[in-house]
Parts: sequence; structure tokens; C-alpha cells
Amino acid sequence: MPGYLVEIFSSFQGEGFAVEGSCYGKRQCFIRFAGCNFSKDSHPCVWCDSPFAQTVKIKDFKVEKTPGCGDFINLQNPVDVELILNWINKISTPDLHSISITGGEPLYQIEFLCELVEQLSDFKLYLETNGSLPENAKKIVEFFDYCCCDIKDETAIKLKEWKKIVEKEFQTIKFFVNAQKKIFAKVVVTISTKVENIEWYASRLSELDVPLAIQIVSAKKNKAIIPNFQHICKLTEAAAKYLTPDQIGISVQTHKFLGYL
Ligand code: SF4
Repeated sequence: MPGYLVEIFSSFQGEGFAVEGSCYGKRQCFIRFAGCNFSKDSHPCVWCDSPFAQTVKIKDFKVEKTPGCGDFINLQNPVDVELILNWINKISTPDLHSISITGGEPLYQIEFLCELVEQLSDFKLYLETNGSLPENAKKIVEFFDYCCCDIKDETAIKLKEWKKIVEKEFQTIKFFVNAQKKIFAKVVVTISTKVENIEWYASRLSELDVPLAIQIVSAKKNKAIIPNFQHICKLTEAAAKYLTPDQIGISVQTHKFLGYL
């Protein structure tokens, strides 16, 4: 079954830092899916940096011709798995660690994703997900080696049922834990992120023995929301009530931090 992508390119994993399971700094081919379940009827994610999360059926997607050179050309959506495989082989480099499947939300196009991951079995696979579709996560967990699962903080999502979404994210995390995959949780934090919320995430993650990356929000236009150093320390110390220091780390979006994006 063909599906809808945004782009395929070669780069380095830029999130997660020292947190176990993050693949930070590793060379990856990125397959970015179009669309997200959170943007179909409303757009609740405050920090969404993916304009292509709004709709699945976008006309074209971009592919990099030479790995790491940014020489993109446009191809037409929907795209067959075979073309994706050929392109991944074309831009694979000797230092390739894994294929990162990201979005948008990859689990939103679940049938296409199932077919794709079956065909990518020669590669190590890394999933980046918002975690809110646990039933779909269950269908593909066996194919992945790594997963970065979001925890949507209260400050990141404009929905009253915010805690219900976090519960779904914990369910997704549990599927990966039960399948003995490398998984870490990532929460984007701001100056308004509450210590008590971080304690709640950490207490639930400790039951699953899953590390937490506390990611500082990227906010070029509104620097006032960036947490100050003291607040970050408070948040990591709060996480340490339940998780070990080995399971806690901070992270930023490296590519944005360095001005590459
Ligand atoms: S889950 Fe991610 S891709 Fe989807 S709307 Fe939220 S931030 Fe954007």
C-alpha cells in the first residue's frame, strides 16, 4: 500500500543526548511521514514544528540525491515502499547506524508503516512517535530496535484531556518495554512546566524502568518560554525522586541549536 511522505534524507540523530537508547549523534537515514492524528480536526500541540503534520495527502515529497548534501528533488506522493527502499540504499553511507522513522506521526499511516518496516528488516530501525496510538504501536513494535516516545506535557498540548493522552503514551512505552526494545521518553519543557508533572512522569517511567530526556523547548520567536538554568535543575532533581541519575538527561534539538535548520 502506498503512503504519504514529507522527505527522505541523511543526517545525524540530534535529540536525546546521553539518555540510553537515544542514538544521539548516530548517522541515520530519516523517513519523515506526512500527517498526524493530532492535527486532523484540531491542532492541539503548541510547539509543533512540522507544517506537514496538518495533512496526510500532500502532493510531493523531497528526497536528497547525495547523502548529507541537501540537494533535494521533489517526487510525487503517494509513494510505494519499493521506491523508498531503493532511495534508502542510494543514500546509505558506510557510517549508517539506523533508519529513523519520524513525522508528523508515523503510526497514523499504520498500514503503510507495517509494509515499510517489513521491507526494511535489513536495517536497524528507530521510531519517533507521539505515543498516542498504542494499538497501532502494538502492530509494529517487533520491527523496531529503538523508540523515542513523547510525553506531552501540560504546557505542550491544548486539550483538557491531556492526562488521558499521557496515559496512552505510557501504554505505547509499555509495549516497547515488554518487547525488550530500547526506548526512552522525551518531554519538551518550558519555564511553565510544573515540577509535580515531571514527578508524575518519572514515577510512572520508573515502574517501567525507562529513562527520561528532558528537552528544552526550541523557541526562537518567544525566548521568554525557555526555562532558565535553575528551573531545569529543579526538573531534573524532581525526576530523580523516582529515576536514577543514569536514567535522566537533558536534551535540545541540536540542528536548530547549531543553526543547521
Ligand atoms: S504530535 Fe508532533 S507532529 Fe503531531 S501535531 Fe503534535 S508536535 Fe506536531
